This record gives sequence, C-alpha cells and structure tokens, in this order.
Amino acid sequence: MLTLEPELTVEQVARFKARLQEQVRALSAQDVELRARLAAEESVTANTFVAGIEGAMAAEADDEVIALLQHEQTELAAVKQALDRMENGEYGQCTECGDPIGLSRLEVLPEAHLCVGCQDMLEHRQGR
Ligand SMILES: [Zn+2]
Repeated sequence: MLTLEPELTVEQVARFKARLQEQVRALSAQDVELRARLAAEESVTANTFVAGIEGAMAAEADDEVIALLQHEQTELAAVKQALDRMENGEYGQCTECGDPIGLSRLEVLPEAHLCVGCQDMLEHRQGR
C-alpha cells in the first residue's frame, strides 16, 4: 500500500471507545424494549382467540419485532467485538488483511472490522 494511513492516536481510540460504549447502551435498551414488545404480542396471540386477519397481523408484527431484534443483536455483537479488539490493541486494523481501516471509515462506522477493500470483496462474494 502506497498511502499508509497514520496509526490511530490514543485520543481517537478513546473517542471511538466512548461512541461504542454508547452504542452498547442504546442497543441494550433497544433489546429490552423489543423483547418486551415481543412478549406483549405473544401474550395477545396466546391469550385471545384472534382469528383470520387479526391473527395474521399479530404474526406479522411478531416477524417485524424479531427482525429488528436480530438486526440489533448482530449490531451489538459487532460493537462488542470492536471493544474487544480495542482491549487487544487491534482496533482500527482490518481483521482480514491487517491494513489500517482508516479514520474516515471508522468515523462513519466505529465498529467496522474490515477495510474498504475487504468489505467490498465480502459483499461481492455474497452477491450483494
Ligand atoms: Zn482488509
């Protein structure tokens, strides 16, 4: 690589850490809320005889909450892994090729674990 990105400074890492910890808090709160919604919806479906269209709507709402919950858990796992990498002093390096991920990318996506090149390749492999 010709354009070598400078290493992240201690201050920059500390700033990303604060952002990631904030994300953990927000996602955990979302997790609690979504689980409560799911529990409430389940009890509606289970405790009342909802037939036909109402039953179908309840099931759809469940699917939506489950999708949100899955998204939130994927996000939370990524954020926690980023914090783990920070602990190990590996934060900001691509887990695939070891290149610096780059400050501008981390500003947008502090939990990123791949550089732009590896991310592109991964998405290409997945056919996105
Ligand atoms: Zn890479």
